[in-house]
Amino acid sequence: MVVGIVRSKYNNAKENITKLLELIGYKLRKKKVFIKPNIVDALPPSSAVIVNYKLIKALIEYFQDIGAEEIVIGEGTGFFTKPEHFEQLLKTTKYDKIEKEFGIKILNLEHEERIKVDWKFGKILLPKIVFDKEFEYINVPKMKTHTMTTVTLSCKNQKGLLNLGTKRKFHKENLHGMIMELSKIVKPDLVLMDAITALEGSGPTQNPQTKVKNMNILLAAIGENNIVELDNVAAQIMGFNVDEIKHIPKVKFTNLGISLDEVRSDFIKPAKKIVYGNIISYQNEKICTLCQIALSQTLRKINFNEDLRSKFNELSSKYEWIDIIQGSGWEKLPENCKKPILLGNCTKNFAKQINEEYCKGCPPHYNDIIDFIFKKLQL
Ligand code: SF4
Repeated sequence: MVVGIVRSKYNNAKENITKLLELIGYKLRKKKVFIKPNIVDALPPSSAVIVNYKLIKALIEYFQDIGAEEIVIGEGTGFFTKPEHFEQLLKTTKYDKIEKEFGIKILNLEHEERIKVDWKFGKILLPKIVFDKEFEYINVPKMKTHTMTTVTLSCKNQKGLLNLGTKRKFHKENLHGMIMELSKIVKPDLVLMDAITALEGSGPTQNPQTKVKNMNILLAAIGENNIVELDNVAAQIMGFNVDEIKHIPKVKFTNLGISLDEVRSDFIKPAKKIVYGNIISYQNEKICTLCQIALSQTLRKINFNEDLRSKFNELSSKYEWIDIIQGSGWEKLPENCKKPILLGNCTKNFAKQINEEYCKGCPPHYNDIIDFIFKKLQL
């Protein structure tokens, strides 16, 4: 159908959401609304890793104005599945303000009711609410790059609908194919993308190789193929060739509002390895977001703790670099590997093969990772 683009900031988001949804001809057809924003990591809104809570506030007000009887918000992060961790996630991302201001409880989808759905790969468990006839399903992604999938937009945002076990299965079996198939069986009524701030470089979460990029736009699409069409538009705005993104099929679309070419701005491409000081983390599609977040949290902890920081600085004099290996599917060490550090249960077999120890956990906790690295490097 159509993909609309309008300029917006967070402080005038409601007025621009209204303008954008009028532009694409969106009409609320059901009584209730289920909103699925990307809230993948416990980082503040300024990080551009998550959909800004101010946009969700504006969207709630929009739906209240047009007569929605009930609004439900839900996310399944994989990493923050325990209730206390999910609570921390909502606090850091400021989504707790939404709960307080509107009295809307944000659902931790990991613990919500699921139904079994047939799909190309057999059966998949998905949240019941996205198939509920009374609920309009609204997919709200963030515009970001991703080391394994090049970009993470609307199709990839739906991975947050999966439970933990299924998320891991995607990474182990067929990441790109499964994300693409998911977009054929779960079809939002509306997709609205937060591209007011975006993330470029080696996303999907914060690290020294990511940068916030101010795009100051919102995108939205309706129709049968809305998420795929919107992702085609967003990827091109970011300067990517859709043919090279394995989980997004190339499709035709009609662009309304601001033209794609007018807002096009090449994003820094994600790298195959992430370098933090003298730590090199190798990226491949078998590492799931959980392990990426675990490493990101490890590095954040080191960064903010002076003692740890100075201990890690000692590494520079002792080792030219150390190599972080995560995920399954490793058959040999990366070229020029100096000191392999294997993290997560997925590396168990490879650890046995190369006669190394590995840090247990799925994902391992950041404190365990730090202890493991210290022990391994005898600091
Ligand atoms: S060990 Fe890490 S990469 Fe492997 S499934 Fe667990 S969290 Fe994902």
